[in-house]
This record gives sequence, C-alpha cells and structure tokens, in this order.
Amino acid sequence: MALEKLSPGALIQALEELDGSFAHLPEFQAEVPGQDRILTVLSETAARLGDNFPYFHPLYAGQMLKPPHPLARAAYALATWINPNNHALDGGRASSAMEKEAVAELAAMFGWSQHLGHLSSGGTMANLEALWVAGQLQPGKTIAASSQAHYTHERISGVLRLPFAKVEADDHSRLDCASLERLLDQGGVGCVVATLGTTGVGAVDPLPQILKLRERYGFRLHVDAAYGGYFRLAGNLAPSARAAFELAGEADSIVIDPHKHGLQPYGCGCILFRDPAIGRLYKHESPYTYFSSHELHLGEISLECSRPGASAVALWATQRLLPPVPGGAFAQGLEASRRAALAFSSRLKEDPRFVVPFDPELDIVVWAPQAASASEASALSQKIFDLAAEQQLHLALIHLPAQIFHIAWPELKADQPTMVCLRSVLMKPEHEEWLDRIYEILGAVTDAARAA
Ligand SMILES: *Cc1c(COP(=O)(O)O)cnc(C)c1O
Repeated sequence: MALEKLSPGALIQALEELDGSFAHLPEFQAEVPGQDRILTVLSETAARLGDNFPYFHPLYAGQMLKPPHPLARAAYALATWINPNNHALDGGRASSAMEKEAVAELAAMFGWSQHLGHLSSGGTMANLEALWVAGQLQPGKTIAASSQAHYTHERISGVLRLPFAKVEADDHSRLDCASLERLLDQGGVGCVVATLGTTGVGAVDPLPQILKLRERYGFRLHVDAAYGGYFRLAGNLAPSARAAFELAGEADSIVIDPHKHGLQPYGCGCILFRDPAIGRLYKHESPYTYFSSHELHLGEISLECSRPGASAVALWATQRLLPPVPGGAFAQGLEASRRAALAFSSRLKEDPRFVVPFDPELDIVVWAPQAASASEASALSQKIFDLAAEQQLHLALIHLPAQIFHIAWPELKADQPTMVCLRSVLMKPEHEEWLDRIYEILGAVTDAARAA
C-alpha cells in the first residue's frame, strides 16, 4: 500500500458535522443523475489515473511535485459539498474569511502586519497580477528579470504589452547584479523581478544587493518566491540565501505558491502586496455580484472572477494543523528536504562519476555525469534518466549553460553551449531517509549507462 487512506474516513466524519449545520432546513435530497453507474465510472477513472508517475513516492525525485497533506485533501473535498466561490462574500462567506486569515499568515511570514493579497489559481496568475500592478503604476516601463527567472515573466509582460528585459545570470544561476546595473543605467526599468528559488535549480537572487540598487534607481521590486517562499521558515539555509529571505519583506509584492511547498492540491497560488492602497487599481463596477457587505470583497481585489473557496478552506485547515512558523513541524519538513539535498549533493561531489556545478541553495540538486565533452555528458544524462526510470527512480533533466561548470569542471570540453544535466527536486521530507536507496539505484544505472 502506498497511497494514504486516512483522509476519506476523516472526511466522512466531518461531512456528518457539516450536514448538521443545515439540519434546520426542510428535508431534501438532491437528485443524482446517473447514480447507479457512479461506482463503475469511478473505478474506470481510477484505472485511468493509474497511468501516472508515482509523484507521492520518495523514489519520485524528479520534478517539482509534492503530495498534498491528507488534511488539505479532506478539507478541499469537504468544501466542495458547499462549493463556495471566493469571488464575493455572498458566494463564499466562510471560505472568504478563511482565505483572509490564511493569506494574512503568509504575509506575516514575511513580516507584514498589513498587506493586500489573495489566493489565485497558481503562481502564473499571481505573477500576472504583480506585473499588472507594476504596469498600472509605471505605464510602458520595462519589466526586468534574470535569464533563470520563470519563463512566464516574459510571456506575461507580452500579454500586458510591457517591454521585457532579460538580465544575465551568474555561475550559480542567480541574477547578476552588474548586468542589472548596466540595464538600469540605460533607464526605463519600472520593475525588477527577484526570484527567491528559481524553478530550475533553486537559486536565490542576491536580494541585499538588488535592494541597494533600488535605493539608487528607484524601481518597483517584485519577489517571485512561488517555489522558494516557504524556505523563509527553514533554519538551515546558507548565509547568502538566508539574507535574501530575511529581506523579502522589503519587496513591493511577493508571490508564493501553497501548491508547490505548502502541502496544497493544485490551484493554490498567492499574491501579496505590501501597500494595501493598491486596492484602488482594481476598481470596477459589477453591481450584481456585490450586495451583502460594505467590506472590500476578495473579488474586488483580484483579476480572476470565480475562484475556488475550497482552496482557501484547504490552506486554512493545513495552517491550523501546521502553522507556517519557524521551528514548527511544517518548517522542520522543509529543513529535512534541504538536508536531503545537501547530503545528496555532497555524495555526488565525492563520487568521481559525477560533477556538481554548485551547492544547492534550497532542496534542488543538479549534477552531470563525468564525460569528455558537454555533448557526451548530455547523452549520458539522458541514458541515466531513462535507465533510472526503468528501476522506478524518477529523476528530471535540465538544460544548463555548459559554462556554469567552468570552476567545478575546468577540463570539460564545451563543444556545445548548453548541456543536459540531471536534476532532482527533493521536496518530500521522506527523501532524507530514502537517500541511500536513491543513491544505490543512481550508481547502478550510471555504471550501466557507461557500459552500454
Ligand atoms: C512554479 C513557478 C512559477 C509558476 O507558478 P505556477 O503555479 O506553475 O503557475 C513562477 N515562478 C516560479 C519561481 C516558480 O517556481
């Protein structure tokens, strides 16, 4: 047995309680079209879902995929019996209040006692909102982000018809401040995106230096911490990453994805603005949706209209159980992931079969197999990836500039500009205990790939 089966029982019990809240209503049972075939179709559905990589298992150590907490799963499902819409208070009274509470706790993680913010369908929508606000405040000015920032920043800038400039990344995949400074000297930059935890390698942009540049050039600063945001709570970061996370609250806006490291099912991103007054930018008139309150509805401060109240309910419940505070059980889970990444990385560094370009800043490890040239290493990475999957170990591949290896691997023949490397996102706390097993499989398939 691999899948947790704790949540369905808890859900049934909570469902009875929820039902009790409506006991005053006249007896009613909704008609269920197709009722007698539900089980048949559901088992067909389960069969289809079996065609997936085992994202929930520690031997899945590839892409950014983390199982939701059983409580989040149950709370999300429970909310669907009400199916609240957090667009406006009359669509989701309780779940809107829960959203505001949960989001305030996320803002508090960054030291904000007041803020404006809400949940969204994900990091992309949340970043869209941040850049839309930047464009409203400084129309026509450039959005700047590093070449290792999430690819959607460039696309979002296109959607918003704002110019976009790509800043170089350094050998650690962090935004290069000298390159940013050259761009700022040319003028016209309205907003700089700093990524705390790049999607590819988990690099943390040098926020202290970026903030110094902001003092001089006066741009708007957006922190994209969709992936890395929760590492604000981890007590075992290297000093440079720690310094960046500690200053995240100096940004004008922050994006963090509860559906990445926050134990939530998909459909849960979050945008936070430091200045609540930007709420004025969202003003619109839609008389039929607002008639139950004079408060600012969540629907009045969001670009999206209908949004799942269930996401807010799941996040609220998870944070009740595991508050997002330093030293708590939730923070310890992140620390375990980070320890796993550090341990994995040092093993790889000591192993003559592999090269590690830089130490992980969060819980993502990238490495390459030793080979004579970038093209040979790329082919070998692909082979290892395929053979590992056959042994149930699921890794990921990433294209990185070959030049980032120049320190760790001076003799590498860079016969092509980019190199296919292996990548592992160790975001499940259990990865720490499974490291021996993971390494054993990796070693065996690497030897097999070389022999082939
Ligand atoms: C995942 C990610 C995004 C995009 O978020 P989605 O939730 O996938 O829409 C943006 N930025 C960073 C840094 C990310 O890791």
